[in-house]
Amino acid sequence: MDIIEEFKELVMIDSASGKERAIADALTKKLRDLGFAVKEDRAGDTFGGDTGNLTAVREGTRPGAILFCSHMDRVAKGLSIHPQEKDGYLVSDGTTILAADDVSGICAILDGVRRAIASQKPLPRLEIAFTVGEEAGLWGGRALDLSQFQSPFCYVLDSPGTLGRLINGAPGLAKLQVEVQGKAAHAGNEPEKGINAAHILCHILDTLKDGRLDEETVSNFPLLGTGNTATNIVCAQAWAKGESRSRDRKKLEAYMAYFQSHCQESAQGTGAAVTTQAEISFAPFLLEENEPVICHARKALEAMGIEPRIEQGGGGMDANIYNAKGLPSLGVATGYTKNHTLEENLDLASFTRSGELVEKLIETIS
Ligand SMILES: [Zn+2]
Repeated sequence: MDIIEEFKELVMIDSASGKERAIADALTKKLRDLGFAVKEDRAGDTFGGDTGNLTAVREGTRPGAILFCSHMDRVAKGLSIHPQEKDGYLVSDGTTILAADDVSGICAILDGVRRAIASQKPLPRLEIAFTVGEEAGLWGGRALDLSQFQSPFCYVLDSPGTLGRLINGAPGLAKLQVEVQGKAAHAGNEPEKGINAAHILCHILDTLKDGRLDEETVSNFPLLGTGNTATNIVCAQAWAKGESRSRDRKKLEAYMAYFQSHCQESAQGTGAAVTTQAEISFAPFLLEENEPVICHARKALEAMGIEPRIEQGGGGMDANIYNAKGLPSLGVATGYTKNHTLEENLDLASFTRSGELVEKLIETIS
């Protein structure tokens, strides 16, 4: 099947984080038709979704195994997509995203295994994971049982950029939260008897180091609120939520510790109780350039006459989870840019060769 036609077919099936049922069913059928044994796990249960991760295995006719991964869900504005070709790109009609993130990755994998099977050459064991809930917090990747795979590494086809771009690192993310418990009092009669939690929270945030912290670490606190619904009561409770990202796990942990002690120290002597939460949502990763997962990718791209470009990415993806679990996992670009926006586009020169890259990756495995 033509890769562009298959892309159009799959993006026109509505899918969202936690609502991947229709596309999972379509992919299950396609994979079974290609001779894969397909299973679905219960990953959806971990975040209120209606669908699990699909895992598919096609036993090899020679030694070796190779694992490919893409995600089945999309960010918001990913329903009723009408893809169209324009000047060498696929785009949406402007009212939705295109969902090339990550349908292009799915199509590259399907096209690649189809090519490999059609070549009638002996093949290694082919392994595929199509995950759920990636955009909502890497839920599928977290729940995925990696012990079912034999591949020593994973190619995650879920990265922006043209063909040849390989993502060997990505930042980790910590979720941060502070809550100030003050004391309510009538704002007109006796404000001096209250402890103004909003005031204390503002002081904490005003003196907190945030934004760009260094070249690989940032933080941001965009969500604020109070327990008040009226202005005639001194504010008894106020909270803020934010995040920090860093390519360096130690820096992430150092900022988490700084954030917690800063919140406590800033409120000292006010009489308010401050509680903080800080947890790593996903860890950063960085693969050495001589890792086998990168060497094979370089070889496959060179066989296609494409210059490999090894770069660090800016966002979190299933590869963060797999690398943290000990499975070296590389992001592979399939041609999309401006993902998560209405201007998302898919470069056809890259995309139409992305299946060939998957086929070449399969060939390089021994
Ligand atoms: Zn993605």
